[in-house]
Amino acid sequence: MNKKQKTLLWRIIIAAIFFVPLYLISEEFIHIEGFPHWALIVLFLVPYLLVGHDIIRKAFQGIKNGQVFDENFLMTIATIGAIALGEYGEGVAVMLLYQVGELFQSYAVGKSRRNITELMDIRPDYANIEEDGKLVQVDPDEVEVGSIIVIQPGEKIPLDGVVVEGSSSLNTSALTGESLPRKVEEGSEVFSGSINMSGVLKVRTTTEFDESTASKILDLVENAASRKSKSENFISKFARYYTPIVCVAALVLAIVPPLVILLTSGVGTGHHALWHVWKDWILKACTFLVISCPCAVVISIPLSFFAGLGGASNQGILIKGSNYLETMSQVKTIAFDKTGTITKGNFAVTTVHKSPIDEKKLLEYAAHAEAHSSHPIARSVREAYGKYIDMNRVADLEEISGHGIVAKVDGIAVAVGNDKLMDKLGIEHEECEHVGTVLHVALDNVYSGHIVIEDEIKPNAKEAMVALKAAGVEKLVMLTGDAENVAKSVAAEVGLTDYRAQLLPADKVSCVEELLKECTGNKRLAFVGDGINDAPVLSRADIGIAMGALGSDAAIEAADVVLMDDDPKKIAKAIKISRKCINIVKQNIVFALGVKVVCLILAALGIANMWVAIIADVGVMILAVLNAIRCLFVKNL
Ligand code: ADP
Ligand code: MG
Repeated sequence: MNKKQKTLLWRIIIAAIFFVPLYLISEEFIHIEGFPHWALIVLFLVPYLLVGHDIIRKAFQGIKNGQVFDENFLMTIATIGAIALGEYGEGVAVMLLYQVGELFQSYAVGKSRRNITELMDIRPDYANIEEDGKLVQVDPDEVEVGSIIVIQPGEKIPLDGVVVEGSSSLNTSALTGESLPRKVEEGSEVFSGSINMSGVLKVRTTTEFDESTASKILDLVENAASRKSKSENFISKFARYYTPIVCVAALVLAIVPPLVILLTSGVGTGHHALWHVWKDWILKACTFLVISCPCAVVISIPLSFFAGLGGASNQGILIKGSNYLETMSQVKTIAFDKTGTITKGNFAVTTVHKSPIDEKKLLEYAAHAEAHSSHPIARSVREAYGKYIDMNRVADLEEISGHGIVAKVDGIAVAVGNDKLMDKLGIEHEECEHVGTVLHVALDNVYSGHIVIEDEIKPNAKEAMVALKAAGVEKLVMLTGDAENVAKSVAAEVGLTDYRAQLLPADKVSCVEELLKECTGNKRLAFVGDGINDAPVLSRADIGIAMGALGSDAAIEAADVVLMDDDPKKIAKAIKISRKCINIVKQNIVFALGVKVVCLILAALGIANMWVAIIADVGVMILAVLNAIRCLFVKNL
């Protein structure tokens, strides 16, 4: 509890201690001869003002700022009305209970906020740099790119970089939700926000603090709350019109029925009877105001979304806004990229053959041509070559998306790519009997053999598809630029419902558009990719999901939902989290509005008074907030 909450708690306790006995004996006071009535009012005003002065002040401030109609206003009018009519007990009690509700709500909201920031506890506080053989702690913001920083066991890695000395295992669970430690050694990339568990590491930084993984993720999580979902927007609009309407309705209730009764039945020509009828209706109107206070709904909806986003990020699923949470819950079709999404994207060069020139030489040319590409294929070819790549030998590099690469190496025109690239260049090429992705290589427009590389299907891919089908996803379609036979075997092995092969990035967009047409009604389409050359598709789909985002800025930027590690099972989990969250929101809306309607009817019938109204209101709010907090717990979905 913070200081403000503590003060409020004390105000509530003291006011209650004063109020309860006063209320119990107040009947007696009235019968005491000569006890002045105003003294009784003053006695009740003490607890009333003690507990409610800030609400009254806020109501007046609201009026001054032109934002008249809010909960503070409703509460102030209702309680002052009750007191003015001589119902002192009710007036004070309503204010007291209302504040109990406020206290609970601010505590719960604060607590879940703190929970989430604790979960997302990846912000590094300092970096160690070596100065004259001694370690000095500095602000990570001051460390320049290329500096050497030292990370001791138990410390958080402050900036992204490459290990230059030492080996250790890292806990990346705050980033990825993955609890298995990750081994790193000299040459490994490390990401800020992970925790060094065993050995001392020396790391050369590769980013500034603002550009580091930890900062990017925190940015994303913080901004997520500002992208509102439809239901949140609906609620804020709702509140804007709702409260004034309620106030007008209360006014009508206070004036019209008594007038009608008066005119029709002509009750009481006497002063006293007239006042009695009127007072009764004004009290009803005050009860109506208390019942109408929209707090529970208004508070619980943003809280549910906030908790849902927080719970998801704790699992390594970053959702960029509550609007995406809503869309995600309606996903019925998922289109997948192949490489890096369903397969590992760690191609292994299996053979080099049909080559008239030396195999090693062929690989050397290919690796040099692929020198700059971030495509998984390029990485594998460079790895298979395994030697230093001299950039001075390479010129005129051009990557043709979905085809391959052309470049000049040692002045020789090298083309590395698939059938399409060869067709495009008009080079006759040979078929390959090996199953796998085939990279043809041509030197100076003469076919010079091919490199067969193979990719592995991710171990969880099959389970992931089963989970998605169980979650009600109807179509699972793979879109790939790879050859038909590779696509077919992968699709069959993993259990996809459909696949399209040999697509260029632009074809993938039109495929997604076709699939979008088939999504009628409330059905939504998601595209899952790795962010490498599929940014257009990610943005064209209803919702773009990027996998394996740790270390890939492209993916983090292009997608709406970012899965930090590359476990495909997280897709089903993300859908389940979003469904749970949306369900809780719906439950709260129905429950809160339902109870209000029942109370209104009871009040209109004269069964419920202000006591019932405030207890119902605070009760609904507490239950709705507790329900909303359930969105945080998504670990076992
Ligand atoms: P996927 O749909 O599997 O992610 P891409 O669209 O990234 O595939 O690439 C499609 C095909 O284009 C690859 O299978 C490969 O044959 C060829 N290709 C793309 N980029 C390169 C590259 N840098 N080097 C060689 N071949 C490439
Ligand atoms: Mg790809």
